[in-house]
Amino acid sequence: MAPVPDIKTPLPGPNARRLMERDHAVVSPSYTRSYPLVIERASGATVEDVDGNLFLDCAAGIAVTCTGHSHPDVVHAISQQAARFLHMSGTDFYYELQVRLAEEIAGVAPIEGPVRSFFGNSGTEAVEGCLKLARYVTERPNIIAFLGAFHGRTMGALALTASKTAQRRRFGPFMPGVFHAPFADCYRCRLGLTPETCGAECLEFIEDQLFLHVVAPDEVAAVIVEPIQGEGGYLVAPDQFLQRLRELTSTHGILLVDDEVQSGMGRTGRMFAIEHAGVKADIVAMAKGIASGMPLGVAAARADLMTWHAGTHASTFGGNPVSCAAALVTLKLLKESLIANAAAVGAYLKDGLTNLMARHPLVGDVRGRGLMIGVELVRDRQTKERATDERNDVVKAAFARGLLVLGAGSNTVRFSPPLVLTRAEAETAIRIFDDALGEVEAAGAR
Ligand code: PLP
Repeated sequence: MAPVPDIKTPLPGPNARRLMERDHAVVSPSYTRSYPLVIERASGATVEDVDGNLFLDCAAGIAVTCTGHSHPDVVHAISQQAARFLHMSGTDFYYELQVRLAEEIAGVAPIEGPVRSFFGNSGTEAVEGCLKLARYVTERPNIIAFLGAFHGRTMGALALTASKTAQRRRFGPFMPGVFHAPFADCYRCRLGLTPETCGAECLEFIEDQLFLHVVAPDEVAAVIVEPIQGEGGYLVAPDQFLQRLRELTSTHGILLVDDEVQSGMGRTGRMFAIEHAGVKADIVAMAKGIASGMPLGVAAARADLMTWHAGTHASTFGGNPVSCAAALVTLKLLKESLIANAAAVGAYLKDGLTNLMARHPLVGDVRGRGLMIGVELVRDRQTKERATDERNDVVKAAFARGLLVLGAGSNTVRFSPPLVLTRAEAETAIRIFDDALGEVEAAGAR
């Protein structure tokens, strides 16, 4: 086996350069490419580029390839199903794979009692499904989301998203009836509390401000929350935040929508991140890791809530049979070993990254659960000034050394590797990240 990483050419290499030039002429410039990776093939947590360079992948295509790149069992299920039939539209007809997947989801979703699933193709469609169902079933118009949240980019989901202003700029006006409340950003708690002792006082904003001044609770259909804000910077909501949110929503007959698009499918060491807090949701959005890279989004809900009538909501491609086949194998692999691996290797990786704080003043905070880990970079640990340029430089320095990581929020590096990551690979990631931090700190000191 070739050692990974193995960088043989300047980056980007000559083949990568040629492809990027073609891309730049014809592909939408709205995509965010942090560094010039041009992939040729991948396996497990290893990615090979078009110039033969090998990278260790701690990005997983934005937290998607949870079973590792092209897991043989997933590829086998996909090719078998592709040979059988590619499409028949679950909207119009029946096929067993969609039923089996809905049965499986009913068995694992963090929802009390019987569960039904609606199938789409992406995270944003899953969120649209949650949103529409919540409005439909409650007959209430308003939704509360959190500042820093990312729920997708279609117009409904975008109204909930409050992550980066660039994502909203020039796209308004947005869907009305959306209100944003502060999220539990415990590293920068505006109330000066610590997660160990606080009672999620930040949630008081909803009752004391929103419900008093802006929107009556009996006109709110749902509160949507990411148990760990993903794009917002890998911010972990403490258990009491989610528990208190559950109480608050139940008190007012408001539905709790759990967006597990990024934090779900075993990534945090449990099937869903909300399980760490022992909280059940009413509706759950899933996508990303659910089918190991095949497009699939799910809005799963309490069966007694999913009462919308035929024709109210549907999708031509949603629940595509090939994606369902991939999802069924993905769930099997997660349950057999990968959730446990995410917990064990995730703890090891987080410890290793935390130890780097002793050597690197740039690291302000290391947080996360399982293999969903954020490293927040600051210019000064006292003032917590955000080190945005330095974060971007660290991500690029890691790439130059063969480690793929992505940013999250304005100054956090996210580690969201495939859940097959081994201890040895985690060790390599820590070593390279250590060097990348050192390089950026040395450049800053000059
Ligand atoms: N919800 C969350 C929590 C996400 O992280 C994302 C994507 O990053 C989405 C929704 C949207 O998913 P997609 O890009 O598949 O539409």
